[in-house]
Amino acid sequence: MKKQFAVIGLGRFGISVSTELYKLGHDVLAIDINEAKVNEIINDSTHSAVGDGTDERTLRNLGITNFDHVIVAIGDDIQASMLCTLLLKDMGIESVWVKAQSYYHHKVLDKLGADKIIHPEHDMGNRIAQHLVSEKVIDYIELSDDFSIVEIAAPPHMDSKTLLDLNIRARFGITILGIKRGKDINISPMADDQIHKDDILIVIGHKNDLKRFEDSH
Ligand code: ADP
Repeated sequence: MKKQFAVIGLGRFGISVSTELYKLGHDVLAIDINEAKVNEIINDSTHSAVGDGTDERTLRNLGITNFDHVIVAIGDDIQASMLCTLLLKDMGIESVWVKAQSYYHHKVLDKLGADKIIHPEHDMGNRIAQHLVSEKVIDYIELSDDFSIVEIAAPPHMDSKTLLDLNIRARFGITILGIKRGKDINISPMADDQIHKDDILIVIGHKNDLKRFEDSH
């Protein structure tokens, strides 16, 4: 279903988020205080506007209160990022996601009611580290300090075995959420579903248990 997003701040992060949301078929209003940045996104957004995200009147005039999701991607100007977040939450925007620059920025954003706080460099660094240490891990999402979801190539010894045969939950304490096979993805694998040799497993669990599973390959 088509959703309405507004992105405030069009640095590298804001531009990537806007462009991708627009490519995925959603409505995107892209806002920056700098006209050159706004011109960069004209063809990759539904609407774009020059405006100050810390000015309530500007935000209201742009119709920001009609958006369910707003992403604050103002980078280095932490004060502007915080003020913008405060205004958006005060105006009753349901979902405000904010890019944080530091631990202290994160703490204040949390108090201001930001619904999700993103640390793109940190998250990407973690993902890349996971790829570097294990060529078996294809993708990685950190859910908390302890839990993650990983995409991992099915090891050859699992070929033609069912989930029941493998008994992964009991042996490793992790759960297979999905099985990717070429372009298909089985999102509710059953006990008698078989794993094939080139499958990619989507697995959720404690990091220690995921590591044990990876090392058992
Ligand atoms: P990144 O690290 O993602 O490249 P930047 O700090 O380079 O982030 O970019 C932040 C963007 O936010 C810049 O394009 C800047 O013009 C914009 N910006 C800064 N302050 C405001 C504001 N008050 N309102 C709207 N946009 C702003």
